[in-house]
Amino acid sequence: MRKTIIAGNWKMNKTPDEATALINAIRPVASGANCEVVVCPTAVCLPAAKEALAGSNIKLGAQNVHFEKSGAFTGELSVDMLKAVGVEYVIIGHSERRQYFGETDETVNKRTKAALAGGLIPIVCVGELLWERECGITNEVVARQVKLALFGVSAEDAKKTVIAYEPVWAIGTGKTATADQADEVCGVIRATIASLYGAEVAEEVTIQYGGSMNAGNADELLRKENVDGGLIGGAALKAPDFGAIIAAAK
Ligand code: PEP
Repeated sequence: MRKTIIAGNWKMNKTPDEATALINAIRPVASGANCEVVVCPTAVCLPAAKEALAGSNIKLGAQNVHFEKSGAFTGELSVDMLKAVGVEYVIIGHSERRQYFGETDETVNKRTKAALAGGLIPIVCVGELLWERECGITNEVVARQVKLALFGVSAEDAKKTVIAYEPVWAIGTGKTATADQADEVCGVIRATIASLYGAEVAEEVTIQYGGSMNAGNADELLRKENVDGGLIGGAALKAPDFGAIIAAAK
């Protein structure tokens, strides 16, 4: 059985004190969760977040990781550094990193392999641009991103990897893919994984939807066969909304 995972991507929001306050508000709404709950604050908030999460069922995630162990990579963080402060999950290849920070399919692949080798669970983000959807090439764009992200990843490690389908046009825009659109592309991702590793592995991989998921639309999206959870941006910053999404995940 694959895991349902609801993960909050806090992006560049919250100071350490504010992160602690938000976690304290999320703890009760996450306590009865039927799914894995993850919060991904900024790097500077990770130690405070780890402390605030003590004794809770919520896991800690980071928003990026470098593929080298150490060295001259100003501004970057290694797998070991993240693990040392209690991180278990890491978002890789978010569209904002692809768009603004030069992330490519090749660096996504390197980061994914480094995370897996070091024992972190990667949440690999894939998704098409609006014009790619309009050109009718969504499925091939997403399949290509998945194949490149997983290139050189073993079947055992592929099973541990989380894929987040995040159509770029739906992120932070208030536009959500319909539940059917989300299900279709998550299904394409599963079929792509099956073509690489076989159906058994594909059945075990958690595939999330992300893109303006909120308290109002989560239920319909999360009911879909191929949608195994959500990667949540804006709504993850409000405890009641995040709680409603957690409650919708079964
Ligand atoms: C995201 O950043 O991963 C995301 C899905 O953002 P939002 O929910 O705000 O669209």
